[in-house]
Amino acid sequence: MKKTNSEMLYERACKLIPGGVNSPVRACRSVGTYPLFIERAEGSRIYDVDGHAYIDYVGSWGPMILGHRHPQVIDAVENVLSRGLSFGAPIDLEIELAQLIIDAVPSIDMVRMVNSGTEATMSAIRLARAFTNRDTIIKFDGCYHGHADTLLVDAGSGVATLAIPGSPGIPESIVAHTISLPYNDIQAVETLMSKKGKSIAAIIVEPVAGNMGLVLPKPEFLKYLRDITKSHGTLLIFDEVMTGFRVSYGGAQELYNIDPDITCLGKIIGGGLPVGAYGGKKHIMEMVAPQGQVYQAGTLSGNPVAMAAGIATLKTLHTTNPYAELSKKTEHLVQGMTQLITKTGKKATASCVGSMFGLFFTDQPITNFKEAKTSNLAMFKSYYTSMLSLGIYLAPSQFEAGFVSTAHSDEDIATTLTTFQTVMEKL
Ligand SMILES: *Cc1c(COP(=O)(O)O)cnc(C)c1O
Repeated sequence: MKKTNSEMLYERACKLIPGGVNSPVRACRSVGTYPLFIERAEGSRIYDVDGHAYIDYVGSWGPMILGHRHPQVIDAVENVLSRGLSFGAPIDLEIELAQLIIDAVPSIDMVRMVNSGTEATMSAIRLARAFTNRDTIIKFDGCYHGHADTLLVDAGSGVATLAIPGSPGIPESIVAHTISLPYNDIQAVETLMSKKGKSIAAIIVEPVAGNMGLVLPKPEFLKYLRDITKSHGTLLIFDEVMTGFRVSYGGAQELYNIDPDITCLGKIIGGGLPVGAYGGKKHIMEMVAPQGQVYQAGTLSGNPVAMAAGIATLKTLHTTNPYAELSKKTEHLVQGMTQLITKTGKKATASCVGSMFGLFFTDQPITNFKEAKTSNLAMFKSYYTSMLSLGIYLAPSQFEAGFVSTAHSDEDIATTLTTFQTVMEKL
């Protein structure tokens, strides 16, 4: 059979780039295929180099909440180009994006821009350790906080997809300071904190877990984390790299009404360009250099083009306030999926929060990573490949969430449900 353009590009890429990709899950190994190389994207559609169009529910893994090539974002980027690409000196746009973030997220008094979610969480951990003068941190199994040494323990996303427990190259002595507990398990946190609470610098959590598939927090879980950290002088870090400006304008902390000490952001705040940020209470953030002693820096941090894309994205979200409609559309999708699951008698469960959605191939409720791993992965694989072949672009892993954007029309959702029915009937 004649090779596709994607296949030929992938073969070339594999000779030059490890695994042919610059981020592991993109390689589509767990679903037994090669990645599609993308030509372009527009609105809710993504087009591969073989001329196929797909309805895109990956949205660059979260950032593209306004869809691809949103006119306001593209305009902002084009306009800033006349000023230059990078100065390594302060610009007005950094203040503007900081102000938008601080106005949106109540727990953030001050914010520092970085270039990725990984940098945001890594820096937040350093800050929490410095602030508390303690070394140990608690995270949760299946939560992914980027690929920094400290946080790559029982992690979600690509680590879960490739079924690798940690990573070679990370010293035992570093991992020794990280404790990973089951998500949603108040008892496990209680037991640990009662023994070691005074030596724990921070608890870091995805307030909605989106990197082990979509797993919702039990309402009392996040509140418990807030209370127990407060009573032990431990900081609570919300990793809202995915949920920030996604599940609501103020993130999961607004949705669940929790006040964390430090918040990590990324994805949407860059509007499709590489941006991350960490922010929090003034007395904590003032410890960051040059105001304080905690060193953290970046040659391209606060980059003009990235700031412009972020500002345009947040401003558009602020003025159009699409969150109710996004939720409605996503609920419509998930309710439709649920009905078709029942109708076709398949063992599967769909869920959503805001514009994030997930599907597991089990009829049991999923509340943590251990349960998520009981999903029928062989079935996911045929589901994924069938959906793709019929024009629906989903993340190539059971352990990722799906994203609806403002560019997805009711017709897109209807088409997706029709396709879902066809695929589920044949599974
Ligand atoms: C994507 C993600 C990260 C990592 O962000 P990068 O920009 O890929 O480094 C961290 N935490 C969460 C919750 C994420 O979803």
